[in-house]
Amino acid sequence: MSISEIAATATVTHWINGKSEPSTSGRAGNIYNPATGEIIAQVAFASREEVDHAVAAATAAFAGWRSTPLSRRAEVMFGLRDRIVQNRRQIAELLTRENGKTSADALGEVARSLENVEFACGIPNLLKGGYSEQCSNGVDVYQIKQPLGVVAGITPFNFPAMVPLWMIANAIACGNCFVLKPSEKVPSAATLIAELAREAGVPDGVLNLVQGDRVAVERLLEHPDIKAISFVGSTATARHIYETATRNGKRVQALGGAKNHMLVLPDADLAMAADAAVSAAYGAAGERCMAISVVVAVGSVADPLIDAIRERAAKLAVGPGSEAGTQMGPLITREHRDRVASHVSRAVQQGATVAYEGRLNPSAVGDGFFLAPALLDQVQPGMDCYDQEIFGPVLSVVRAATYADALQLINENPYGNGTAIFTRDGGAARQFQFDVEVGMVGINVPIPVPVAYYSFGGWKTSLFGDLHMYGPEGVQFYTRSKVVTSRWPDPGSSKVDLGFPQVR
Ligand code: NAD
Repeated sequence: MSISEIAATATVTHWINGKSEPSTSGRAGNIYNPATGEIIAQVAFASREEVDHAVAAATAAFAGWRSTPLSRRAEVMFGLRDRIVQNRRQIAELLTRENGKTSADALGEVARSLENVEFACGIPNLLKGGYSEQCSNGVDVYQIKQPLGVVAGITPFNFPAMVPLWMIANAIACGNCFVLKPSEKVPSAATLIAELAREAGVPDGVLNLVQGDRVAVERLLEHPDIKAISFVGSTATARHIYETATRNGKRVQALGGAKNHMLVLPDADLAMAADAAVSAAYGAAGERCMAISVVVAVGSVADPLIDAIRERAAKLAVGPGSEAGTQMGPLITREHRDRVASHVSRAVQQGATVAYEGRLNPSAVGDGFFLAPALLDQVQPGMDCYDQEIFGPVLSVVRAATYADALQLINENPYGNGTAIFTRDGGAARQFQFDVEVGMVGINVPIPVPVAYYSFGGWKTSLFGDLHMYGPEGVQFYTRSKVVTSRWPDPGSSKVDLGFPQVR
């Protein structure tokens, strides 16, 4: 299906066995263009039977795919990489159309998606096991990594291409078959990726998509043929996914929400810290799980830092993501926009002050789900704007007297996804890296999303499960190891021995 066909499709439907599969459930949802507020298409909502159909296709494909030589699987991943490069603009257009992010940000998402495919191109090297010779007389021991079988992924609205590829690339390169349930708000990019995967040589049934809502998710969580679940989304859903799927005997990695703090010490480069705070708080309209939502200003840096952030925020161009010059697009839905907006007035009732609140240009935003950037000062734990994940363009400033107070604040927060410190003091930065109870740390880097050859994951309620996503831990998640102890026949030394095997 081409981009124009996908864009013109009235109903985005499932992708099963290498082709688009019409839905029979009779249930569907609306897809909006957040920049205009218009309904642009429908998305099918799978029934339990449709999920079973996708899982059956994946199960049937598994034996052939797991025995496909590693060199061929690598070749397929190289092919997928090339097709994503060739179609990067089309993928980005779909991201802007359904998610609202700017064209530049959408191209950035595609670039970060590619890294995961490129990592998976090295699968022959990644699946090397270990070999120990002569563990006992004539006995060698080695470890091999084998795929799990059929695995499933459930993904959020904010990275419609990248988060699916965090999962798909490693999962299928390792020899698994995959069933993805994309976010029902942004389903089209995944359909284009599935089409590109087929063109690259991914056999039918190895990658399947079921569109839908929680009905599809619940069936995936309980389906006996699904061996593992990868999830990315809000903490409440992540917890539910983890508890339900582990109870059903599945391996689970469930990444949840975030409240990312940026600690600014008085010696920081003020302009650099302000640029970083504005970029990381308002980029993608604050709808990134690694967005900075709290600046913790230590000591005397607070007033000049707030001035510098205000000055930059006031210059941000808010408008449709497809228009040149737009820096911040709309939020994902009208309801979400209204919920984010309500945080500003509630914060004031609860004792915060508004350091800056932008105004929208009515002719630029029309009926889209836009919200101007806001900056709150004097924020404290206990206020809703601090305690809740806002997931929008509202940045809070908490003033801390000392580094120790700032660190305590971050470590007491129930989330632990990302954090950053801004300072010129290498010793302070190193101490922060040592002390902070957060999974991903930036030193003068505001959005420290690890490169694809490390793994992505937070701590505390930002991740349920033991293994982080993509990179080496992704390979570990999608494989199980088998240890083989072998001896080749040596009739001269064979005898009956009922004792427990000894190695010395
Ligand atoms: P969400 O939890 O509402 O939805 C995520 C997925 O779960 C979707 O596919 C959705 O259909 C499904 N889902 C939603 N509610 C469900 C339920 N009750 N039962 C079963 N399935 C359900 O998240 P979202 O609004 O799409 O995405 C935003 C959230 O994702 C934010 O909290 C953000 O922090 C988080 N996120 C986290 C990371 C990370 O790496 N930690 C990355 C991206 C987004």
